[in-house]
Amino acid sequence: MRNNIIGRKLGVVIISVFLVVLLFLGFTIDRMFTNFYYSEMQTETEELTSHFTIMAESQDTTTEQMMRTFAEFSNVSIFNISKNGNVDFHSGVHDSTDRSFIRAADLKGIFLGDSVSFDYKDPSGHRYFVTGQPILEGETIRSALYVMASTESMDRSLSDVRNILFLSGFGAFILAMGITWVIARALSRPLVQMQKATRQIAAGELETRLTIRSKDEIGFLAGAINDLAVDLQRYRDTRQEFLANISHELRTPITYLEGYAKVVMDGLYETEEEKNLYLNIIYQEAHRIQHLVDDLFELAKMEEGNISLTFEWVDLSQMVDRAVHKVELKAREKDLKLDVQYIGTAVKVHGDEKRMEQIVMNLLENAIRYTDHGEIKVYLDFGAGSVAFIVEDTGMGIPEAEIPYIFDRFYRVEKSRSRQYGGSGLGLSIVKKLMDLHGGKIVITSKVGIGTRFEVHFT
Ligand code: ADP
Repeated sequence: MRNNIIGRKLGVVIISVFLVVLLFLGFTIDRMFTNFYYSEMQTETEELTSHFTIMAESQDTTTEQMMRTFAEFSNVSIFNISKNGNVDFHSGVHDSTDRSFIRAADLKGIFLGDSVSFDYKDPSGHRYFVTGQPILEGETIRSALYVMASTESMDRSLSDVRNILFLSGFGAFILAMGITWVIARALSRPLVQMQKATRQIAAGELETRLTIRSKDEIGFLAGAINDLAVDLQRYRDTRQEFLANISHELRTPITYLEGYAKVVMDGLYETEEEKNLYLNIIYQEAHRIQHLVDDLFELAKMEEGNISLTFEWVDLSQMVDRAVHKVELKAREKDLKLDVQYIGTAVKVHGDEKRMEQIVMNLLENAIRYTDHGEIKVYLDFGAGSVAFIVEDTGMGIPEAEIPYIFDRFYRVEKSRSRQYGGSGLGLSIVKKLMDLHGGKIVITSKVGIGTRFEVHFT
């Protein structure tokens, strides 16, 4: 929580919003209560004044005493003011010498038949609610009756309400702080864990995984970091495997090169024929290395997306003829029959001619390489919608369980099989990548001991 910046930011926002709402609410409630108490008091005082006025108008001998008792009982002060402003009668706690609440304009209004009511603060700072009404004698206005009710108890009640409001507001504020702290912690903890995990992953600890605790954006982010770690781990493993494979692939021909070159250099041969045989092996192995390096380079370019295809309309029949012609010699050397058939009306295919030829050549070379006797049938099927190039051999076949892996780099069905036959283990990976770049698909059917059929469909 020490570096919980997001928590702090969130806290500031939540607390600020909360404070604004709290202040607004507090102010509104305070206003509501003040208005309520004020209007209550106004009504009460006005009602009292009306009672006193009725009493005063009865002009009984006991009136004055009754009014005094009633005023004392109601805790108000009353002033009976004559037209010239003299106090005829006074009762109550309020100092009778203080006349500052008697304003000439009000008095004039009362003697004209009006009532007045207003807030008043005496010189000593006490607040009162004052109401003034005329006292009638028959039709004429005899005097003005002022009733002064102290607002002290109302102020006390209001102050109690304010205290309660303040206390509950303060309690709510503390509660909000607590909730904010909990939320901020809950939000930031997984983020801090993710930060730690990504640092560990960056430092090479690719086995690091995060526990996904929620099905929200934070959970999805944790999932994405885990996926990234898995991908990086896979990438690291395949890279290590790849490097191991390359060194393994290169070591065999280089050992041959070194060995036979030394034999020739040291003159460890008996006949000129024997020497030529060794030189031929050196040539074959050098060729193999060349082939391997070329394939690797091609594959690396494709994997990095650094290969740009030049699309054009390609006459596949011409290209297949050319490729078949190139491999004819190899087929003849192994006594394999090579049969080419064209099905349907020839149409041109949109693709990169050089790369398409590479696909066709790789498949033809594999068919010859992994077939010891029998024949190789090549079809170019100009069907509706797509053009298929098909190579069918009567070779050793591929076990069904291994078919999904034969497009992996350096994958070999029997580990010694293709080296013995001179393959690099990269041919089908290149075919797959090129077919992907052409948006085509590959279909394989194979039976061990019977043969293999490779179909590539160009659209
Ligand atoms: P290689 O250069 O070793 O042939 P590929 O990537 O072209 O590598 O092929 C991968 C593996 O698939 C080969 O090692 C071989 O075992 C198997 N394979 C490919 N084509 C055929 C085929 N026509 N018949 C039998 N096995 C095949």
